[in-house]
Amino acid sequence: MTSGAAASQISDPDSGAGQDAAQAIGPNRDDSRTLQVRDPRTGRFDSSVQTPSSADLSVIAERARNAQTAWRDLGFEGRIEIMRRFCQALEARRAEIVAALEIDTGRRRIAGIEIDSVHGALAGAAAVAPMFATPEWQAGRAAPHIKHAPQWLAYPLVGVISPWNFPLLLSMIDAMPALIAGSAVIVKPSEVTPRFAAPVMAAVADTPELADILTFVTGDGPTGQALVDLANCICFTGSVATGRRVAVQAAGRLIPAFLELGGKDPLIVLEGADLDEAATAALRGCALSTGQACQSIERIYVARSIHDDFLARLVALASQVRLNWPDISSGDIGPIIFERQAEILRGQIEDARERGARILTGGEIETHGGGLWLRPTVIADVDHDMAVMRDETFGPLLPVMAFGDEDEAVRLANDGEYGLSGAVFAADIEQAARIGRQIEAGAISLNDAALTTLFYEAGKQSFKASGLGPSRMGADGLGRFLRRKALIANTAQPLPIQAFSEDA
Ligand code: NAD
Repeated sequence: MTSGAAASQISDPDSGAGQDAAQAIGPNRDDSRTLQVRDPRTGRFDSSVQTPSSADLSVIAERARNAQTAWRDLGFEGRIEIMRRFCQALEARRAEIVAALEIDTGRRRIAGIEIDSVHGALAGAAAVAPMFATPEWQAGRAAPHIKHAPQWLAYPLVGVISPWNFPLLLSMIDAMPALIAGSAVIVKPSEVTPRFAAPVMAAVADTPELADILTFVTGDGPTGQALVDLANCICFTGSVATGRRVAVQAAGRLIPAFLELGGKDPLIVLEGADLDEAATAALRGCALSTGQACQSIERIYVARSIHDDFLARLVALASQVRLNWPDISSGDIGPIIFERQAEILRGQIEDARERGARILTGGEIETHGGGLWLRPTVIADVDHDMAVMRDETFGPLLPVMAFGDEDEAVRLANDGEYGLSGAVFAADIEQAARIGRQIEAGAISLNDAALTTLFYEAGKQSFKASGLGPSRMGADGLGRFLRRKALIANTAQPLPIQAFSEDA
């Protein structure tokens, strides 16, 4: 089955869902294309999706914009109530959604966590919504006869473009607050992992008030580009290279583009740190999701006096990590989702090996059942010219380097183009915080790693090449979709022009 609209574009021999919705969009499919979808556990392209034609996408955007006014007028409480029912509809379809995510990402537990994250996104947006309630009139300070009241006005149509590593989570992390703010939303997930869109759109259909307000369209780069041309505000999560293109296109239209891009997160381990805890956090921070997370630890710097001890503990832990092959419900990490990523990982390992580094665990891309896999790969004797210390990895590589003093550790951590997040282990939180304050990145985990995976309440921006725009965490996560407008009233007589006359 190939159809033109939203989630109904999934070609699934077992499901005819969504054909009606597709037919409702319109007949013009001239420039619609078919994209093949791969199962990362088998390596087989076993499904396909259809991109919407440009005419279809324009119709979807026009309908969204038309429906948005009524959605906006529901107010926070009305929208939150509807999104609660949408979450219930997702729960009712949990098995279908998990099954779709499971095929595209090769992991089961995290597929369930992705659904849980949608509930978290709703709770987070609902908790901060009262901060954006319309307040009373306020008297002016300099001119007490002038009073003013703000109005928060949502962007009519928000476009969300998401990557393949957490397909549902990284779609709804932006879509949910935008919807709660009062915007209509079109989501374009990655063409690498689009299967979940069909059951999610079925949950949208189960929530009639969301008709035309939330739409998932399947497609690739050109579909994303077309969406940038139609939306009033763009949320983009993906690579630096694509992010730059999206930023330029959005700038041409003078619309905001909130960019969440790549990272090369450092972890610093200071003397006095608990080395077992540091090694445990380093491994989880690096290898969870097979390292396919933007906030993964990708470089580890350890005080020279404890370097060998830490390395031994890290190697011991890394050696115990199991692939979830052949049984998806047993093991710690899944396959490499995007096959081209395997080439990047292979290249970084080879570059390090050729320049004299030692590969202590893993190190080989393994093929099982047609899928590609990599065990956590601890690399010692690295230097800062190696690709593994400079370029984004997006895989389970753990390069470890010794430093002499704290200044050197901070200098090395800041020596790179990215500034997403980082981590510091020390004898106590205050010592870790002292170093953390000097790292040029938007979030620093202290005595743990990659805490932004688990904790969404702290506002954080992405520094350097890792992104642009307000925080997607904390109150700004909602506030960034609300434009502030001022109503200003004069309670006295308007001034005549003569009040500004040049006469003495
Ligand atoms: P990508 O840049 O290749 O693609 C991301 C999305 O952009 C996809 O949906 C793709 O179809 C779309 N796209 C491609 N060209 C486009 C264009 N010209 N205009 C509009 N959309 C276009 O990234 P990816 O490989 O899917 O994801 C991996 C990258 O995402 C990594 O660099 C990772 O660090 C980053 N990432 C960042 C975060 C974060 O929160 N900072 C989270 C997850 C992933």
